[in-house]
Amino acid sequence: MANLVCDIAVVAAGPAGLAAAIAAAENEKKVIIFEKAAVTGGTANMGIGPFAVESHFQKDMMESLTVEKAFEDYMRETRWHVDARLVKNYFEKSGDTISWLEDMGVKFAGANKYFPGSHRTWHMVLPEDGSVPGPRSAGTMCKRMTERAKELGVEIRTETPVKKILKEDGKITGVLAVDKSGEEIICNAKAVVIATGGFGNNVEMIKENTGYTYGTDIFNFRIPGVDGDGLRMAWEVGAGKGRMSMEKIVHLVAGVKNDMFLPLSNIFYQPNLVVNLEGHRVMNEELLEHTSYASNVTDIQKDRRIYSILDKRIIGAYKRNGVDVPNDMTKMFGDIVAYFEEMMPKAAEAAPESMIIADSIEELAEKIGCPYEELKATLDEYNDLCEDNWDSVFGKDRKFLRPISTAPFYAAAISIGAYGSLGGILIDSDLRVLTEEHIPIPGLYGAGSDVNDIYDGSYVFTFPGNTMGFALNTGRMAGENAAAFIDG
Ligand SMILES: Cc1cc2nc3c(=O)[nH]c(=O)nc-3n(C[C@H](O)[C@H](O)[C@H](O)COP(=O)(O)OP(=O)(O)OC[C@H]3O[C@@H](n4cnc5c(N)ncnc54)[C@H](O)[C@@H]3O)c2cc1C
Repeated sequence: MANLVCDIAVVAAGPAGLAAAIAAAENEKKVIIFEKAAVTGGTANMGIGPFAVESHFQKDMMESLTVEKAFEDYMRETRWHVDARLVKNYFEKSGDTISWLEDMGVKFAGANKYFPGSHRTWHMVLPEDGSVPGPRSAGTMCKRMTERAKELGVEIRTETPVKKILKEDGKITGVLAVDKSGEEIICNAKAVVIATGGFGNNVEMIKENTGYTYGTDIFNFRIPGVDGDGLRMAWEVGAGKGRMSMEKIVHLVAGVKNDMFLPLSNIFYQPNLVVNLEGHRVMNEELLEHTSYASNVTDIQKDRRIYSILDKRIIGAYKRNGVDVPNDMTKMFGDIVAYFEEMMPKAAEAAPESMIIADSIEELAEKIGCPYEELKATLDEYNDLCEDNWDSVFGKDRKFLRPISTAPFYAAAISIGAYGSLGGILIDSDLRVLTEEHIPIPGLYGAGSDVNDIYDGSYVFTFPGNTMGFALNTGRMAGENAAAFIDG
């Protein structure tokens, strides 16, 4: 058994834990981070960049969004069913956090939108190899943060998971961790920050606390090590249970089985026709680009499935003029429509139950598994709307009204995905961990996805970069508040 002493023990080195450690060390506290994985950065190593409002990038771009306006829109979107003070504190800090990260050497490509209707809040990190931002570029941000933490004297112990939070006489006294040789470490600390990234890799916890069954009606990213440890350990020392949900998006079912088919989602997320397993049209398909709204639509359908349908003429139009709504996939995978007709038969062969090519409506209905009469009626109605050039049912923009009439017909099954989990530990707006009675546990703080309950069950994609932004800013606030707690 080894013994260590510090002011603040930080459980995990994802963006929330790194930000907490840096902020605490900037406040002259001795900090030790215990990280389960061999590398720092956590899930953020997969991502692109964080949210911020009123960053200098936005000001330079003459972006008119202010903290006040963002707050107002955000609270309306979440129906004030979230901690308003926490949201306000986070938004107010977020612009400065971008400059704080830049001071550590993080470079950003500016402030971006996720889709045309979203706000310009997504600060994409420039990868260190000079390439354009894309999946995994935020890994560079985590590297710079790790360097900064070390520079400030933070000790980072990787491959050393925390197993238990220690509490005596109602106060937090440290953590118990185990290093890679199996040796137990008792670390005495005056405060502890928990930031273990949630329970996205724990299928039992997902089932028990959100109702989804991994592999059946949810196909979330599973980041090794993100097993709900922080939640379990917090509950063990008396923390209340916060609301728990998944950071839902939509996901091409075939893409779960074979990454190769994911680029096809660029075509199937275009605003054509979407039906459910009853053969009924269920949404204004423009919303497919708003992945969390589309996941809400999917959530209430039979088997949590929807099917996106298009036909030969639509593919022809896309080949001539490009897709209706170019998105990130377009940038990442190039002109997918050019090789759509070549790739689709391979996809249909590899995943026949979810990637469909049909020569008639009867065949399409049979392959989807919906009643032919219902699908036929839906197509007749939809094609009439296209002819009238007015979607009197769901109000889709007329420029997206293209009839589905010319074989072959193509369809893809879409289900629910998720970037990870949200929430589980009850906190207040100062990131203090609370008991069920809403009483703070002295010295215990939470940050990042373990405590992220600011979406009211549906990720607010109109403000992209939000979970990484929340992790960084709540981490920073938790580190500062833990330091202030020690200073009395
Ligand atoms: C593919 C993908 C792309 C994404 N892109 C974006 C994006 O562009 N913008 C955005 O806002 N969000 C994005 N996200 C989400 C974002 O990455 C997360 O919300 C964010 O990383 C959460 O930060 P965190 O610090 O709370 O947890 P994580 O980043 O998940 O870190 C948790 C850490 O805890 C460690 N840990 C777990 N248990 C223990 C233990 N017992 N002891 C010690 N350590 C432990 C883990 O090893 C891990 O390192 C993306 C997610 C995915 C999957």
